[in-house]
Amino acid sequence: MNSFSSGFEVQQNLDLQSALAFASPTVRTILERALAGEEVSEADGTILFSATERDQQAIYLTADLFRQKANGDKVGFVVNRNINFTNICYMGCRFCGFAKRSEDHDAEWLEPEQIVERAKIAWERGGSEVCIQGGLHPKMSGTYYREIVLAIKAALPDMHIHAFSPFEIWYGAAKTQMSYRDFLADLKDCGLGSMPGTAAEILDTEVRRKLTKNKLSAEKWVEIIRTAHEVGIPTTATIMYGHVDGPQHWAAHIRLLRDIQKETGGFTELVPLSFVHSESPLYANNPDEVRPGPTVSEVNLMHAVSRIMLHGWIDNIQVSWTKLGADRAREMLAMGVNDLGGTLMNESISRSAGAKNGQEITAKELVQIIRSAGRIPVRRNTVYDEIESFADHDPEDLSPLVERDGQDPLDFLKMFPEVEAAQ
Ligand code: SF4
Repeated sequence: MNSFSSGFEVQQNLDLQSALAFASPTVRTILERALAGEEVSEADGTILFSATERDQQAIYLTADLFRQKANGDKVGFVVNRNINFTNICYMGCRFCGFAKRSEDHDAEWLEPEQIVERAKIAWERGGSEVCIQGGLHPKMSGTYYREIVLAIKAALPDMHIHAFSPFEIWYGAAKTQMSYRDFLADLKDCGLGSMPGTAAEILDTEVRRKLTKNKLSAEKWVEIIRTAHEVGIPTTATIMYGHVDGPQHWAAHIRLLRDIQKETGGFTELVPLSFVHSESPLYANNPDEVRPGPTVSEVNLMHAVSRIMLHGWIDNIQVSWTKLGADRAREMLAMGVNDLGGTLMNESISRSAGAKNGQEITAKELVQIIRSAGRIPVRRNTVYDEIESFADHDPEDLSPLVERDGQDPLDFLKMFPEVEAAQ
């Protein structure tokens, strides 16, 4: 193990050594091998994901050490806006509480100029990214995806467009009868900057059959993601857990993401997404078979074991505050997490599925969450280049940031009012 320089690091190492001494021999051996630089296998990952209380502290401290090696004390966030251009979708994924039918009173469809209008507001308020996803509207043309990208780029050439899940790429390519490669290369030429790696759910055929009727198979998700990386479009990676799945599925999923990353290097981060059961038809229709989301320990272990399994390959583990809320997001910073994601105004997908944690958070709130955990807030862009660090502020001081030249330094990042309500 590396030598440690600061008092904090020495204490952290002592804590880890005592937690390892207390852990079961099996888990201790797996973690000691990982700390010595060995890769954690899928079988060992399954053991870690199944850890009981006795072993959990050693796992969390190992994850925290790996986080520190990879990222130091910096915790990132991005100022972005979510735009869900339609919620009309007939795919019928059983877990989805977001999709509406065209005739529903709350069905939504945005024309390109309405999407651009929202993107402009984001830009004017300091946003560097728009995150765009939508349902698979049956009457939508496959070229609508490129129209959206072209319209935003014409109005805002420097706005980063992070858009379209592999499910949407599958849909657009099928509608236009293009190969995934040609469809993705065209979107990149139009100005697509990166893609969310959503719709991964759990990359296991049996689980996907229960969740989505396997309409987008695990193989197709992997093929689209690999192709995106090959044509130069980076993506995030996700896992949606806590429903009809278990530790062996999680370990296989994370191992698969690691294998893809070894080939392509195209993942920017992993974002674990806990299943929110409250308005999900999957749970409502099968309460005896479907779990109501992950337990507290499972959430902790998901972030920590993913950090350990992905060490050296995917350096950024992001917590979803929309799923977990600010307090739990802060706790995850001690379990291997180094990123809080985006301000995400209008985060309607989680809300539709019953998440209680609002649709936006201000940059200032994110900074204060990070500082309250003793870490250094860093505003980053979508692909993890640092835009601004808040290292010069005392991490113990939770008061609003000091005014510079009479102006609150985060004023320009103040997020958006409820513009949706007015439109
Ligand atoms: S998860 Fe996406 S594809 Fe599936 S029903 Fe919901 S909106 Fe449609």
